[in-house]
Amino acid sequence: MGRLELNGMTKVFDGGSGDIVAVDELDLTVKDGEFLVLVGPSGCGKSTTLRCIAGLESVTDGEIVLDDTPITDNKPKERNMAMVFQNYALYPHMSVRKNIGYGLKITTDLSKSEITERVEDTAELLEIGDLLDKRPSDLSGGQQQRVALGRAIIREPEVFLMDEPLSNLDAKLRTTMRTEIQQLQQDLNVSTVYVTHDQTEAMTMGDRIAILDGGELQQVGEPMECYHEPTNQFVAGFIGSPSMNFLDVERHEEVLEHDRFSYTLPADVAKAIADAPTDLTLGIRPEHITLCDSDRENAVQTEVTVVEPMGELVHIYLDFGDQTLTASVDGGARVQAGDVVSVVFPEDKIHLFDGATGETVKNSTSGRQVPDEQVAPSN
Ligand code: ATP
Repeated sequence: MGRLELNGMTKVFDGGSGDIVAVDELDLTVKDGEFLVLVGPSGCGKSTTLRCIAGLESVTDGEIVLDDTPITDNKPKERNMAMVFQNYALYPHMSVRKNIGYGLKITTDLSKSEITERVEDTAELLEIGDLLDKRPSDLSGGQQQRVALGRAIIREPEVFLMDEPLSNLDAKLRTTMRTEIQQLQQDLNVSTVYVTHDQTEAMTMGDRIAILDGGELQQVGEPMECYHEPTNQFVAGFIGSPSMNFLDVERHEEVLEHDRFSYTLPADVAKAIADAPTDLTLGIRPEHITLCDSDRENAVQTEVTVVEPMGELVHIYLDFGDQTLTASVDGGARVQAGDVVSVVFPEDKIHLFDGATGETVKNSTSGRQVPDEQVAPSN
């Protein structure tokens, strides 16, 4: 079991000249065996949340519950959790064997031979069996991180807590280790809270992702749910790469007015948002902007300022007055800087946000398919 609940968890630091609310009334549940990723920009409170769960920071308010037992005031070693850090935190003077087995030696009464057996099994699982007699300084970054993982796994905790464990690795190794950690977590079926600032890591690894900003939870959901159905402009801009484009528009009945274009909403959308504010922000993802004929409804003429070939895709930058929009189009498109092109924001792909609060007014209507069982029966 490893069901973790944070109920109104708050952490306030004394910042000298005033309080710093690092985590603000966080309500979050990690299901047993779930891989939950905490993601958000620097300073949003990810590490503080993790450190509070681990017991390395006391909470100012709220409670932490593990398998229905409050553990808010328990010491770290009483929490049955294992943490993996960005900087590996290995003991430099100990061999890999001792690094992996050390926690068991000091916290359990297992015999020497039992510890040896578990160290060897863990090392085999992580494919570092041949490194057991080496010191951390003899290992690559990826190998050191495997040792750090081994040290966490061997304790057979109820929860793994991982704080940016892949940040010190180069891009290629990071991608490989991402898959390995995911696989390992699935095999071990241990509830995991994984912190990263990298939205790609969050999207590819998490069963669910929790997006934080300014210490506040913005949304928690499956990766594709957050991509297709962001609850606000912050989430919409944070999830997805390159980021969603935003344009301030003014709504006049079914028409959205921008300095550079007028955009007619489909009748059903116009009706659905009839009570929404008139100041809106239109959101369109780069991968959804489409090159089109100039006579298509809602086509906008614009100049291409920069072209970045990426292989299968080309990122093109489009002049929209005081803004530049990014579009990701097919790599075969023959577009050059200086070309004037027609583009459209397909009607089923646009998002609309309240221009004042950033709250979602309308999400794209294509995209995420609702599973049959979630569709309400019509009667
Ligand atoms: P990063 O990705 O940069 O590590 P983060 O999302 O993990 O950022 P935290 O490290 O949790 O963010 O910090 C959240 C806020 O709390 C920040 O404003 C930070 O400056 C502040 N903070 C964190 N630790 C302390 C501390 N010990 N004393 C005072 N303020 C702190």
